[in-house]
Amino acid sequence: MTEVLVLIDHADGEVKKPTYELLTLARRLGEPSAVFIGAGSQGAAAAEKVAKYGAEKVYVVDDADIKGYLVAPKAEALQQLVEKSSPAAVLIPSTFEGKEVAGRLAIKIGSGLITDAVDVQADDGGDGTPVTTQSVFAGNYTVTAKVTTGTPIITVKPNSATPEEAAGAGTVEEFAATVSDSAKKAQIVASQPRKASGRPELTEAAIVVAGGRGTGGKFEPVEGLADALGGAVGASRAAVDSGWIPHSFQIGQTGKTVSPQLYVAGGISGAIQHRAGMQTSKTIVAVNKDDEAPIFELVDFGVVGDLHTVFPAAAEKVNER
Ligand code: FAD
Repeated sequence: MTEVLVLIDHADGEVKKPTYELLTLARRLGEPSAVFIGAGSQGAAAAEKVAKYGAEKVYVVDDADIKGYLVAPKAEALQQLVEKSSPAAVLIPSTFEGKEVAGRLAIKIGSGLITDAVDVQADDGGDGTPVTTQSVFAGNYTVTAKVTTGTPIITVKPNSATPEEAAGAGTVEEFAATVSDSAKKAQIVASQPRKASGRPELTEAAIVVAGGRGTGGKFEPVEGLADALGGAVGASRAAVDSGWIPHSFQIGQTGKTVSPQLYVAGGISGAIQHRAGMQTSKTIVAVNKDDEAPIFELVDFGVVGDLHTVFPAAAEKVNER
């Protein structure tokens, strides 16, 4: 069976959930091989984890030239792996870094690139090449697409698939990549871990509760419901521009893209630029005082009411369980 390369998403060696989602999707296309770049000492531990989701092989690429620099060396390492293994496809998480690696890789190997897929299937009626589903133009169109040139490079949004376990061999293979001087132009001089909030990372969370201008700057009800549900907190740009919450919480065209199982919006009108970042959420719930707010056009469940009373009441009910 043909190999499918999956770039492992990790934070200092700790494998993140989108990796397991990609491995689950990769099994539809061929035999998954995970690629672990940049934290080699933890390669064996990572291999054990990804093997549970079907990774037959785990390429460990560890080199100071990769670790100490930004994305360019990672793209070079992947290029060399693609040239060595001729995979059926390369799946990469749709993170800021993942998309940059994917773009650089596609240019290097002269392949087509699809970003922000929310589903990947093998083309049953055709030659088995991956067919992706994407939501474009702020979610107004759903597109199915496939790469017609070279090795398909596909970035997939977090939460696009439910990780399903399947035993793989997880055979570790050290891969020595050669990093060119031109890829070592942006060096990491310092990095600071994010302050731990105890909540999941916004772009990976299965549940997101977001607040907008309607919070009036009081995010406690939003945080309370997020904590009751075990979710992440998000915000509209109006809330961010008002200085109520940092930009790292912003969802939308100029913020983060989320695709959780459940998205709860409170005091958010549903502007097209906000929708662009959350429209592919599986179930959308909105609480808004205005029954004509545009957000109600896209919800699965809507509550006309004040978020300052609805959110605490919902959190109380959840906490009672
Ligand atoms: P509003 O549109 O003011 O809506 C507030 C809503 O809260 C209203 O519907 C109101 O009925 C409701 N409300 C008020 N009080 C309560 C209450 N107590 N309980 C319940 N409901 C209440 N926006 C983003 O979000 N993300 C982006 O990335 C983004 N990028 C942009 C990029 C560009 C180039 C531009 C031009 C705009 C961008 N915007 C973005 C801004 C976007 O157009 C909207 O202005 C913004 O999303 C509005 O935020 P909001 O829904 O919180 O505020």
